[in-house]
Amino acid sequence: MTTISCPKCGAKVGFDAGTKFTKCSYCGTNIYIDRSGAGFYYIIPFAVKENDAVGMFRRWAAGPTKVKDLDRLAQLAGVKRQFFPVYMFKREVNGKEQVSVEPAGSTILPGLHSLKIPAGDLKIYDASFDTSGAEIVQPDIEMLPYLNQLPGKAKEQALVYFPVWKLDYVYNLKRYEVVIDGSSGEGFASEFPVRGSAAYIAVAAAGFIAFAAEGLLAIYNLPIALGAMGLTVVGIFGSALFVARRM
Ligand SMILES: [Zn+2]
Repeated sequence: MTTISCPKCGAKVGFDAGTKFTKCSYCGTNIYIDRSGAGFYYIIPFAVKENDAVGMFRRWAAGPTKVKDLDRLAQLAGVKRQFFPVYMFKREVNGKEQVSVEPAGSTILPGLHSLKIPAGDLKIYDASFDTSGAEIVQPDIEMLPYLNQLPGKAKEQALVYFPVWKLDYVYNLKRYEVVIDGSSGEGFASEFPVRGSAAYIAVAAAGFIAFAAEGLLAIYNLPIALGAMGLTVVGIFGSALFVARRM
């Protein structure tokens, strides 16, 4: 058994070699242990309420890459609050401080690699922090491989619990999941029902054929060809707008 000093109250805390996470038995503070010593866990409180998270989900679902009317047709099947563990790395790169965030828990969601830590919202995660029953996801990814890959010189690293809303929804008898950042309201999903691109391709192909024909016409009559090209541009723009709104 090895001991470290609690970064909050200074009490000696014993832990087994190889342990990464422990808790001070005196003040209840969660402690993260890495090669450089003992550090705090941080936690970011929820800024986004459940109703707002659902509203953000609807707006996300109405986005241009999603299948038409997903915001109306998606049936919410579950809303969960979680604190998801991430590592925050402060590095000195070419004389400037650079902060990066990487997942400390397994995830398939690409957005969780680019979370932004809001300045001033980091709270020390100790016994006084009220998680209000939100699930705390345990870290299962080591910090060391990230440390070896990141550019520059290490200044500080910490484990941060990030607030996320997890929404399950059903569309066309299939279940999907989307994560809403509980601090910024941004939405992340690895898979969602996408809008078909066939209509856009048809518009682009029609435009290409029209321009090719007008290019030939320009050899014989430039003013008429230029006029036709102008009409084609307006036509393509109008059709693309129609596809975006109606299909
Ligand atoms: Zn303590």
